[in-house]
Amino acid sequence: MTIDELIARERELFRDRNPRSRELHEEARGSLLGGVPMSWMTMWAGGFPLYLDRAAGATIVDVDGHEYADFCLGDTGAMAGHSPEPTMRVLGGIEGITTMLPTEDAAWVGTELARRFGVPYWQFSLTATDANRWMIRMCRHVTGRDRIAVFSWCYHGSVDESFVRLDEQGLARERVGLVGPAVEPTETTRVAEFNDIDSVRSVLEHSDVACLLMEPALTNIGIVLPEPGFLGEVRNLCDEHGTLLIIDETHTLSAGPGGCTAAWGLRPDAVTLGKSIGGGVPIGAYGVTAELAARIASQEDADYEDTGGVGGTLAGNALSLAAARATLGEVLTDDAFQHMIALRARFAAGAEAAIADHGMPWSIVSLGARCEFRYAPEPPQTGAESAAAGDPALDEYLHLYLMNRGVLITPFHNMALMCPVTTDEQVDLHTEVFAAALAELAA
Ligand code: PMP
Repeated sequence: MTIDELIARERELFRDRNPRSRELHEEARGSLLGGVPMSWMTMWAGGFPLYLDRAAGATIVDVDGHEYADFCLGDTGAMAGHSPEPTMRVLGGIEGITTMLPTEDAAWVGTELARRFGVPYWQFSLTATDANRWMIRMCRHVTGRDRIAVFSWCYHGSVDESFVRLDEQGLARERVGLVGPAVEPTETTRVAEFNDIDSVRSVLEHSDVACLLMEPALTNIGIVLPEPGFLGEVRNLCDEHGTLLIIDETHTLSAGPGGCTAAWGLRPDAVTLGKSIGGGVPIGAYGVTAELAARIASQEDADYEDTGGVGGTLAGNALSLAAARATLGEVLTDDAFQHMIALRARFAAGAEAAIADHGMPWSIVSLGARCEFRYAPEPPQTGAESAAAGDPALDEYLHLYLMNRGVLITPFHNMALMCPVTTDEQVDLHTEVFAAALAELAA
């Protein structure tokens, strides 16, 4: 069968298997914009999203009663597993969700994040996007510089300044499809190529860049790992040019309890986080060094307390912080990461064997508890290379094939993430189904 025929067969199977999801999706068209509570839910393969009945641990059950081994884990939001017991227990006992008053949990979480990431002073948002947006503002204010820098093919949430990339000529361009930018983001942002230190140098040497916002490994265009020495050179260039370095660990927390920052001994000026640390309850976090904290504190002209542009009414609320304390303290623990990383090794080995057995020119890149396959024989070194190694038809086929046989991976990635209660059996189910999908493709 051709890939188109395989996709058509899998689509039909998907439609037939999921009548209740299909029906609910049709009904929702009457009340939800685009028929979905969030637009990216239309990106699931199959033409309509599966509707959730319930999820626990690493297992999802949909409204048609199918059970899934869940390696999507809410695209990292459920890295702690779905509804982890310690988090749920604490949530059930909450008396007062959002009051504008701090709770003891906040300082506990700050201390724990400081232990993990090595930067001492923390505050909280509700999303990683907001953590990034607020950190960028603070960096602009303390440096007195207008611009920021990012890497081509990055994703840091819906942060206006980050929707830029380099074109084939190496020129910065607005990302295709950007909705309603206030200004051309190329006016606010300089763009470098990941793993290309000369391009970082040429971006920073203008001496107008307040901060470089980066993931220590790109994780939103496949996974692109840094080459040896690259991150150290980036740090040095930031120092040389007075640019603050923000490391966004939202996804790369998969590397270990303190993300890549701890695993690789990085020295950021600020760390941003989100998605997973509340066990699924919305929370983001940003932490800064003592030096940057002192610079922020010394700005008498900055209205951090009221309408200066940093903050949100529900940020720092009691519920989010109780969830984060329980999740960090009892679920995403140092021991849990060891289990998650070991399972990822099993997952990647299984997938690699299937790829080799069927002679597919694909590679797998791992980052702690997360791995992702890409349609290139060698792991891509830059965002551009990784983008070029995408294949929407193969994505659709593989995602559908897996879904139709009880395995979920993230819809807009080929990413698999392990949580503390993912099991060997779930990993082996993936290996088996993935190998069968490849066998049909190779036939
Ligand atoms: N940073 C990174 C690295 C991300 O991948 C994402 C979302 N995928 C975000 C920030 C934003 O997270 P959120 O959409 O939850 O704000």
